[in-house]
Amino acid sequence: MVLRPLGPNPHGPAMHSLDEFACEKLTALERVQLRRMPVVTARQGIYVDRAGRRLLSFSSNDYLNLSQHPAIINAAVEATKRHGVGAGASRLVTGNHPLHIELERRLARLKATAAACVFGSGYLANTGIIPALVGPDDLLLIDELSHACLHAGAKLSGAAIHRYRHCDMARAQALLVQYRAAHPRALIVTDAVFSMDGDSAPLHDLAELAQQYDAWLLADDAHGLGVVGGGRGSSFANGEPANVPLQMGTLSKAIGAYGGYLCASQPVIDLMRTRARTFIYSTGLPPLVAAAAIAAVDLIEREPDYVGEPLRKARLFARALNLPEPQSAIVPLILGEADAALAAAQALEEDGFLVVAIRPPTVPRGTARLRFAFTAQHPDTDVERLAASVRRRVLGC
Ligand SMILES: *Cc1c(COP(=O)(O)O)cnc(C)c1O
Repeated sequence: MVLRPLGPNPHGPAMHSLDEFACEKLTALERVQLRRMPVVTARQGIYVDRAGRRLLSFSSNDYLNLSQHPAIINAAVEATKRHGVGAGASRLVTGNHPLHIELERRLARLKATAAACVFGSGYLANTGIIPALVGPDDLLLIDELSHACLHAGAKLSGAAIHRYRHCDMARAQALLVQYRAAHPRALIVTDAVFSMDGDSAPLHDLAELAQQYDAWLLADDAHGLGVVGGGRGSSFANGEPANVPLQMGTLSKAIGAYGGYLCASQPVIDLMRTRARTFIYSTGLPPLVAAAAIAAVDLIEREPDYVGEPLRKARLFARALNLPEPQSAIVPLILGEADAALAAAQALEEDGFLVVAIRPPTVPRGTARLRFAFTAQHPDTDVERLAASVRRRVLGC
């Protein structure tokens, strides 16, 4: 096959159709301020160094600052010395390690489930779990603001997908009334704490709906674990634990490491280990990462006061700006168009703060925003300085 060299274009001499395709896409995204580029960022505790400047960061999901905690680092270093770096194979071949088993035992205990299964990442967990549970005959309801990997898992499953308006229980129920009977199985999936809005899903109401219509409930608690419910996550945040049979989450946020998990009953976990494609056909988590995550779970169980700090900081910030009371460590400030969010981020950066602008497609059109994420080690005085800077530079009051 001959690649067709294409004639003169704004990007230089002859270009193959592949590169031309990529350039055109990028140019179109740039025009609407939606081109995204990873910026080299060196993290130093709560600070980051970017382009020669040190900024105080409010854009990390390392809610408990455990990614740089001495005890967690030590656990990873010791495990690396003993076991090396990579797992070497899929868990089902030779990549299964005692540290994986120990981590799964600890996660199950934390979540009060019979068993747990660890995946390579949260994204891999959701794209593995959902298609292992439902298929083309089945019904899937999803909160429209759920994380991209829940939408991806839903799509991969081939199930009949119905999105319901954000946290709209009446709409979710109407969909179940209309469609449930036509499908043998039904799954409801939602973020437990919404990643870009910081609000919580009504897990008790969802659990009741699920029970009423014989649907299964999967809650993704990426931003709840280690932050709410005394660190045990969203199911434990409001009185009696919510009845969520599929408790999914990530080890890459408050845990400070990497990887994803599902906590559920023994048969469900056994099914994952034998049917979830992202578990079977992907290399096991590096044992050193499992060791770090175990140390993080230890710390979460031991230090309830420390675990309460991110939420306390978020509330301090919100009170200073008269924003609604946060339910998590995430506080959004919705500004509308992408350029408004970028300009606001720029203004805060001039004051020494890093708050990344969040734009479509991560959030719906017209809801570009600043997303503030608070961590245990942000000093209160800096949180107050940030609020003052937002008031002056962004809200203009
Ligand atoms: C970050 C995130 C994920 C993905 O987890 P990773 O471990 O980073 O792949 C999944 N769901 C939600 C809600 C998230 O915020």
